[in-house]
Amino acid sequence: MSISDNLEKIKKETDSVGVTLVAVSKTKSVTEIQEAYDAGQRTFGENQVQELRDKYEVLPKDIEWHMIGHLQTNKVKYLAPFIKLIQSVDSLKLLQEINKQASKHDRIIDCLLQIYIADEETKFGLAYDEVIELLRSDEFSILKNVRIVGLMGIATNTDNEKLIKEEFYELKTLFNGIKASFFRKDDAFKELSMGMSSDYKIAIEQGSTMIRLGSTIFGSR
Ligand SMILES: *Cc1c(COP(=O)(O)O)cnc(C)c1O
Repeated sequence: MSISDNLEKIKKETDSVGVTLVAVSKTKSVTEIQEAYDAGQRTFGENQVQELRDKYEVLPKDIEWHMIGHLQTNKVKYLAPFIKLIQSVDSLKLLQEINKQASKHDRIIDCLLQIYIADEETKFGLAYDEVIELLRSDEFSILKNVRIVGLMGIATNTDNEKLIKEEFYELKTLFNGIKASFFRKDDAFKELSMGMSSDYKIAIEQGSTMIRLGSTIFGSR
């Protein structure tokens, strides 16, 4: 099936439940991204700064680019002028740098805090107690050029659906708790980015508002 066929099929499943589809275009060519764009897709996710920038330069300017991969503080400056959402914020230090670079461009950059939910040591993200500590800190409270709009998580890469379901359920529960404790009066805090090609149906059942699909749209990498 073509990229546009794939998109149409997924859109049928996600539009009715109000879930945002992020097309993960890492390693895919500008031509392939343009095909998705021509089919109506406007939100794309990348995990490498250089690749994201190169694609931003040549593709239509109404694309909303999301950074979904681990971000080093020294590279934030390359994304600050245009990035729509940084989904992979995993430290206060990174948040402080995003704030600094955002202020240089007179912007407020939307961010998700990436939470470590998987049963794997290789994944990045904040532990439950670390995210609470970050949100309570004085250092966080003075940041004016970043806005936390939700949480992101990556489930364990496994066939065990029960485990995946539990991890998403825990992330949703944490989201509800953080919303109630820190963002009760803040309507912007509403995104729960969870679900990839292999597990997005479970993620939607567990309350995802944003899924990140690569291979389901563009084919295997
Ligand atoms: C690559 C990637 C995805 C998409 O993976 P697929 O299995 O191709 O859907 C989603 N989220 C993150 C953080 C990724 O790095």
